[in-house]
Amino acid sequence: MTDARKIALTWKIHEMLHREGFDISGIAPAASHHEDAQHISDWIASGKHGTMRFMERNPGKRGDITSLVDGAKSVIVAGIRYYSADPPHSARSYFVSRYARVRDYHLVVEEKLNRVIRHLKEYIPDAGSRAFCDSEPVSEKAWAIRAGLGWRGRNSLVINKEIGSYIFLGEIVTTAELVYDNASSRDRCGACTLCIEACPTGAICDDRTIDARRCISYLTIEHKGDLPSEFSGKFGNMIYGCDRCQEVCPWNSKAIPWSDSEFVPEHDIAGLSKSDWQTMTPEDFKKLFKASAIRRTGFKMIRRNIDFVNSGLSEKR
Ligand code: SF4
Ligand code: SF4
Repeated sequence: MTDARKIALTWKIHEMLHREGFDISGIAPAASHHEDAQHISDWIASGKHGTMRFMERNPGKRGDITSLVDGAKSVIVAGIRYYSADPPHSARSYFVSRYARVRDYHLVVEEKLNRVIRHLKEYIPDAGSRAFCDSEPVSEKAWAIRAGLGWRGRNSLVINKEIGSYIFLGEIVTTAELVYDNASSRDRCGACTLCIEACPTGAICDDRTIDARRCISYLTIEHKGDLPSEFSGKFGNMIYGCDRCQEVCPWNSKAIPWSDSEFVPEHDIAGLSKSDWQTMTPEDFKKLFKASAIRRTGFKMIRRNIDFVNSGLSEKR
C-alpha cells in the first residue's frame, strides 16, 4: 500500500470512529508484547486477582495480539466517555458505578466497532479485522497507551488528558497497514496521591495495580461467596462497583457526561430507590437489567451486597 493510501485510510478510520461517537482514537502497530502477559502473570502470582480464575486463561494470546487475527498489522483503539453527573452518593438510594448506569457497554462498543469494520471492508475488501471490548486476551490498557490515548494513572486506569478516565475502550485488530500514533509516555499524575488516599479499602498498590481482593468494585461484581467482614462499614452505600478513585482524580474534574443515544438505558438505574432495590424480585431483576452489565453479576450477588451494605450502615448508627 502506498503511503498516500495509508494516510487516507487512516484518516477515514478516525473519521468513522468519530461518527460512531468515539471521543478519542489512536493506532499502534500490532506486535507481540510479552510484557503484557508477564504483567498479568505477576499480578496473578501475587494473588491480587482474587477468585477471577478466568484471568489465568490464555496467557500466550494476551502477550501476542497477532495471534488473534492472522497477519495482523494494526491495533486501532477507541474510547468513548460514560461519565454521568447524577449525585454519586445519596441516603435514599444505593450506589451503582457510572459505567453500569448505561446500556451494557460490551454490546454498544462492539456494535459500533463492528459497523466500522463493515465500512472498512468497502475500502479494503481483503482486510481481516476483529473487534474487542473488555475481552480477556486483549490487554486493553496497554494498547490504549501504545496508541497514544493516555497514561496509566496511580489508580491503574488509563487517563486521557482531555476527557479523563471515565472511558470505555474498544479495539479493532486488523491486517490493514495504517499510520501509527506515538505511544503516550508522559506520566501526568505527578506527585498526586488523591486516589490512594480516597480508596475506602486500601486497594491501590504502589505499582499502579489494584489488589482485587480489597477493591469494592471487584468484591461487589466478581467475588463469589461471602464478603470479607474486615470491610464491613467501608462500602458506604455501594452495591455495584465503586468510582471513588475516579471521583477524586483531578483529570476528571471537567469530565463531560455521556451523550451517545445508544447508551440510553432501558430503565433509570441511578433513579432506583433503596426500597426499589430491596423489594426487587428475581423476575424484576431480569426485566430491569436485560440490557445492563449488572445482569452479569446476578440477582443473588446483588442481594448479598445490599445485605452487606445495610449491616455496615446499621453498625455505624
Ligand atoms: S474502585 Fe474503589 S475500592 Fe477499588 S481501587 Fe478504586 S477506590 Fe479503591
Ligand atoms: S487521583 Fe492523582 S494519582 Fe490518582 S490517578 Fe488521578 S492524577 Fe493520578
